[in-house]
Amino acid sequence: MTRPLGLLILGRQGSGKGTQAAHIASASGVVHISTGDMLRQAVADQTELGVQADAIMKSGGLVSDDIMIGIVEQRLRQDDVVARGFLLDGFPRTVAQAEALAGFEGVTIDMAINLNVPVEECTTRMMARGRDDDTEDAIRRRLDLYEAETEAPLRAWAEERGIWRVVDGLGTEDEVATRMAEALGEVGA
Ligand code: AMP
Repeated sequence: MTRPLGLLILGRQGSGKGTQAAHIASASGVVHISTGDMLRQAVADQTELGVQADAIMKSGGLVSDDIMIGIVEQRLRQDDVVARGFLLDGFPRTVAQAEALAGFEGVTIDMAINLNVPVEECTTRMMARGRDDDTEDAIRRRLDLYEAETEAPLRAWAEERGIWRVVDGLGTEDEVATRMAEALGEVGA
């Protein structure tokens, strides 16, 4: 039996990575783990984490690495993930998170896909979806943060490991899904 896959999907907010992640998960059987969805659920449930995360998310900032690493480590230990593998969406967002992930016992990262959509297109899409934390200021702040703290450093981190792939995120949902599937074919997904 082959080992379950460990996949990452990266991309600016508004790149469509959540939608594409759902496609990949249903096609290949890996568990889709969205840290943004986990945090939004915690906010809705008003857990201690949710109360802490709420203001940070609304301002467009990042929840602390320690908190995020703890949440993800716990999720990756659950039976469904151990059995089926995972596709992480929204994590890692910093090199500290990436290093922690790579150091988790039993975790291997097979591929990090960067879904590439230009900033202008992402801004337009995010304004259109009208989510509670999608104010213009928060959007600008998140896109700025993404360039500086996530894309550049994580690209270097993933390239060093030979796992970085760029997929063009422009076009219809199906066109992008086909490109994703092609890239993932390389690791047998
Ligand atoms: P997302 O749905 O991935 O855009 O995440 C929504 C918000 O949740 C982000 O703007 C951050 O405030 C927070 N968040 C999600 N994932 C992470 C992470 N890995 N590290 C820090 N903050 C995160």
